[in-house]
Amino acid sequence: MRQSIGECAKKSGGVGIGGFCSRAPLSGQITLDDRPTLSHNLPMKLITFTQGADPRPGLALSENVGIDLLAADPSLPANWHVLFGDLSPVSRVHQQHVDRLVEMETLIAAGQDLPMPFVKLGAPHSVLLAPVILPSKIICVGLNYRDHAAEQNKVLPANPMLFSKAPTCLQAPDLPICIGEDLGQVDAEGELAVIIGRAGRAIKRENAANHIAGYTCFNDVSDREAQYADKQYFRGKSIDTGGPCGPWIVTPDELPEFGHGLDIECRWNGEVMQKSNTKQLIFPVDHLISYVSKNMTLLPGDIISTGTPGGVGVFRDPPVFLQPGDVIEVEIAGIGTLRNPVQRWTPSG
Ligand code: MG
Repeated sequence: MRQSIGECAKKSGGVGIGGFCSRAPLSGQITLDDRPTLSHNLPMKLITFTQGADPRPGLALSENVGIDLLAADPSLPANWHVLFGDLSPVSRVHQQHVDRLVEMETLIAAGQDLPMPFVKLGAPHSVLLAPVILPSKIICVGLNYRDHAAEQNKVLPANPMLFSKAPTCLQAPDLPICIGEDLGQVDAEGELAVIIGRAGRAIKRENAANHIAGYTCFNDVSDREAQYADKQYFRGKSIDTGGPCGPWIVTPDELPEFGHGLDIECRWNGEVMQKSNTKQLIFPVDHLISYVSKNMTLLPGDIISTGTPGGVGVFRDPPVFLQPGDVIEVEIAGIGTLRNPVQRWTPSG
């Protein structure tokens, strides 16, 4: 039996225009009470979107208004994996257009089209995808929050416990987490993910910042039956659509160093299941980048999801698991909210 966790699709409130923050303090903590204000100081938010054809790199100015980067500057490379190497031309596009946000919002309210390079975000106009597509690796960290270790009565690990998810698990913001009817114990894990910008091997901690493109929200959806039945996590962690990511990447200059001190919440149907702060991380982002890259080259677009706080469904009494109709939100202060419904998946063939 699952606990009652409220009505389906209850929308968590109060993040202004979609988790957009005014310029964040660069040190200390950012809490979920630091609600955004619409200003011309909006931080740059990197998105990948589609208008029905190929994925395109863009910028989000609000939940409604985006910029098509290639329309703004056709000389730019067509994918983030290359753009991450030098974000200065992207920043230039942002600076050139950000002041027109209010004008674009007014046009949308009047039901009018937007002039290029602006695009309306949201179906049926431009659909957000996961902000990076086809990363070479999705690396996850188990047991990396002190409160998550405590709920399992586990001693703190001496080194990061790494596992991976298949890149085919990535899912876009707002699109469904699809679970087969034979998967009865699927759980959600809200996490801060760091996106690699510049490739590197054997990266020293003091140089880790040079390899970070930015930060985003991640949901490490987990099939607990497979996770515990197998001797490896790979199958249980790699359900198609079991890696919601987004809605955008916030660049490091908008957040405290290494994303430290950010409030993080995971809500199921509006009910808070996980609530913590990234200061609880046992191994912070610079440590993880250094540790992983001792053994393997990190490539642009690679995702390192830093682990989940306490409160996951499987450790509740009684345990709770995702059900079709649920809506799962991962919100991180200074970044935004990743929201995905849950649907039943049935094979088509
Ligand atoms: Mg996890």
